[in-house]
Amino acid sequence: MNKPLPTDAIAPSTAALEMIDRLIAFPTVSRDSNLGLIEYARDYLAHLGVRSHLVYDVSGRKANLFATLADEPEAVRTGGIVLSGHTDTVPVDGQDWSSHPFRAHHAQGRIHGRGTADMKGFIAIALAWAPRFLAAQGSMPIHLSMTYDEETTFLGVRGLVADLAERGIRPTGCIIGEPTDMQAIVAHKGKRDFCCKVRGREAHSSLTPTAVNAIEYAAQLIAYIRGVADRLSREEPRDARFTVPHSTLQTGVIHGGIASNVVPRDCVFDFEMRNIPATPHDAMTQPILDYASRELLPKMRAVASEADIAFEMGLDLPAFGIEADAPVVRWAMELAQTSRLGTGAVSFATEAPVFQRAGIPTVVMGPGSIDQAHKPDEFITLDQVAACEQFFGRLIESRPPGR
Ligand SMILES: [Zn+2]
Repeated sequence: MNKPLPTDAIAPSTAALEMIDRLIAFPTVSRDSNLGLIEYARDYLAHLGVRSHLVYDVSGRKANLFATLADEPEAVRTGGIVLSGHTDTVPVDGQDWSSHPFRAHHAQGRIHGRGTADMKGFIAIALAWAPRFLAAQGSMPIHLSMTYDEETTFLGVRGLVADLAERGIRPTGCIIGEPTDMQAIVAHKGKRDFCCKVRGREAHSSLTPTAVNAIEYAAQLIAYIRGVADRLSREEPRDARFTVPHSTLQTGVIHGGIASNVVPRDCVFDFEMRNIPATPHDAMTQPILDYASRELLPKMRAVASEADIAFEMGLDLPAFGIEADAPVVRWAMELAQTSRLGTGAVSFATEAPVFQRAGIPTVVMGPGSIDQAHKPDEFITLDQVAACEQFFGRLIESRPPGR
């Protein structure tokens, strides 16, 4: 038997539910274009008399959208709150869905569909509220921000934030509506990864002194990276908000060699680092680069001048951290009527550090649960949609937080 909804539960608005259905129907998997959704949002806002600013990627197949819900955008260049979400979703390949992932399916107090929780639900509710935000703009100007490629490279948000700086728009604060069950999140770890290519010199294995064994040098470097990880686990000040309370490094992939009787010329491996907010990535990266260039390369080149160690950085997302008593955090918690900061930290990465580092105080708070994200039958509950709407309702009546 299904549990009845509590009688005091507030139902979501029809406008919000319809908008969620609409946005789920755009299959905006990160590898594909998001223009269908972006152009729909642009046209919808245009009907409300709001002009959207689109910033495209190099291919022209994806775009960010930024729109200020005010009659005179000039007046709110240095104020207002950004409601921000990414438009892309993870794929559904190989997942066993019981309904069509890109058609919202309503059942038993839930809406199923790819992106309902992570995180078109939040974007849809914000869009549905645009008319009310517009009507209330005097007390609380709202900016809507929609990005691409959050699930992959974080390139979208970087372009969006750079564009804001260029246009002199300095909002008072930003809410990233990732699914946190409407709890305020003030920290997450950063992540940086590298592909390292070690080039030696090959030879018949009976002649090893004339060759440079790429696997053996890669192994030394990997052991050194492990040493950096061990040192951090011993010496770094603990950040108890995280399950693993210190920064970590690890090597995850390695390829090299062709046969046991051939000295390998090439070895390629991937490693990553996940840092706590107190330790910048560079402090972890530099010793590794120095060890390669000062310790290993001279030995390699003494035998083979063509020997080389190359590092290619892939993802580079800083850790996110804002004071738990920062004005934007206290303000958001008050509006969400939650005193429960919990640990205030999450294990997933968000676009928050990109806004935060651009001088826009940012908190992560949105409807739905990360437990449902990226999975088959992803869903958001109607309760969470309603909770987000209540949050927006209090938001338009509030005064902006201080800086
Ligand atoms: Zn997300």
